[in-house]
Amino acid sequence: MSKSIEGVIASPGIVIGKAYIYRGDNIIIPKYTIPAEQVEKEIKRYDESVKKTKEEIKAIQSQIATSLSSDMADIFQSHLMVLEDPYMDQKVRETISKEKRNAEWVLNDFSLQLIQNLKSIEDEYLRERIIDIADINKRLINNLQKTHDESLADLKEEVIIIATDLTPSDTAMMNKKYVLGFVTDRGGRTSHTAIMARALEIPAIVGAQVATSLINHGDMIILDAIHGKIIVNPSKDEISEYEKYRDDLKQLENELATIIELPSHTLDNETVYIYGNIEIPEEMNIIRDHGAQGIGLFRSEFLFLDKSLPDEERQFEEYKRVVEFFTPHPVTIRTLDIGGDKIYAFTKQYKERNPFLGCRAIRFSLENEFLFRPQLRAILRVSALGNVKLMFPMISSVEEFLKAKSILHEEMENLDKAGIPFDKNLPVGIMIEVPSAAINIDIFCKYCDFFSVGTNDLVQYTLAVDRISEKIAYLYNPLNLAVLRLLKQIADVSNQNNIPLSICGEMAGEPKYTMLLIGLGYRQLSMSSAFMYQIKRIIRSVSVKECIEMTDYLLQLHNTYDIENAINQITIIKL
Ligand code: PEP
Ligand code: MG
Repeated sequence: MSKSIEGVIASPGIVIGKAYIYRGDNIIIPKYTIPAEQVEKEIKRYDESVKKTKEEIKAIQSQIATSLSSDMADIFQSHLMVLEDPYMDQKVRETISKEKRNAEWVLNDFSLQLIQNLKSIEDEYLRERIIDIADINKRLINNLQKTHDESLADLKEEVIIIATDLTPSDTAMMNKKYVLGFVTDRGGRTSHTAIMARALEIPAIVGAQVATSLINHGDMIILDAIHGKIIVNPSKDEISEYEKYRDDLKQLENELATIIELPSHTLDNETVYIYGNIEIPEEMNIIRDHGAQGIGLFRSEFLFLDKSLPDEERQFEEYKRVVEFFTPHPVTIRTLDIGGDKIYAFTKQYKERNPFLGCRAIRFSLENEFLFRPQLRAILRVSALGNVKLMFPMISSVEEFLKAKSILHEEMENLDKAGIPFDKNLPVGIMIEVPSAAINIDIFCKYCDFFSVGTNDLVQYTLAVDRISEKIAYLYNPLNLAVLRLLKQIADVSNQNNIPLSICGEMAGEPKYTMLLIGLGYRQLSMSSAFMYQIKRIIRSVSVKECIEMTDYLLQLHNTYDIENAINQITIIKL
């Protein structure tokens, strides 16, 4: 019998393949029941893992005995005692046979119970055994799952990755040839892992909560990232039904692709520009092939994934590739937005209690000029080669912007003195993604050359809802009236002041919001490639007038669900 699990669509598509459980640093406990006839096999699996774990411990002991001392090696004797404990052994066997639960589940429950009991005991020696038990439990479970190679870059066959969580760098480094799709228990639609999946066109579902408990390594999976569900061990009929669905979708996508030749005009002849968001230069082909008219957001931080930091020269080369590729179209390069869920090798040591409210983005750059200045120089130098714009992320006050701009001016003077060319009129703008910047938008109009609205963060900071939390994902809704009012205020004030305005949060790349954004006054939408064709189709099938009428109506509703229902009813006809 197949099982179905629900989650949040991070990147659309349908794929069918084998599950690959990726544990990263987490230990995953699959929980499932077994048929009576498989009890014996399950107990054998448990026996083998005990045997393997004993061998491992003995190997560690002898290694320590030769490299350190035999006294040190004796520490592991207590590990062996835990493993050889007849009570545990008998209890695990009995529970597997009686309750027909898988060995990982039984073992883990047993260890947790034991740890709980030991915690309440006064005896220090016994309490110290907690660590041994936890370690043995982990090893036994690892061996039960016959731990596989953990690097996603080294996969050898096509798989669907199932993980508790993936970091944005895990996703960026995936070998796209073999990763058909992925599912994570944690995360929300605007987590950077989800953003990477869309950018790389890897179908993905996040926030599935129980995926790692219910899916086993090697299970057959249908990843339906159109409806947000995962079917585990599907029947033959389900597989053939989905194969047909997948092929039909491909066909539809090919038909839609013909739209790239057509202009991005509304019925009443207003241009709505479609730009691309990119994370790594490799994505530029996908973006151009989908008909984008330039890059509205180049998230430069993804160049900083490695342990070795990219110096000015390497950054220059990477930016140059993108700028030359898109010339004469614009490329908006955003300075480093590190922090939040983008924690890299070199920032791991700065643990913060509230990373999204901490030393992130421009705050980090201003504190680390040794990284900021070379980045500014690289962007300035590349500005001589094409249509470049520079943008600072997470600006929350005018002072912060002026401080960043003064450092930029110092670097401009330095380049000038050295006779190195750059665009002296380089447009310098900011992301509007913190409510304070949105509220003070009229003030920022006096200082900035352009704005780009980052709704991913603007929604998170306005509603006080962590954008990567699957637990409160239901509260993360860009249609909350407070967000819509801020978006309208930003658009009204920027348009009155003739400040170029774009929107580059994930909202811009979702077809159901296209009419709303046009109605609110946005004419530059920057997005991943996922829905570019559909969005262009909507732009070409609506008038600005009807979008404004719809938006005015929505702005009078109070309840997010009413707004959502209304928008679904109106836009569904256009999709
Ligand atoms: C945003 O916040 O909307 C945005 C585009 O920036 P990021 O997703 O990289 O935080
Ligand atoms: Mg942001």
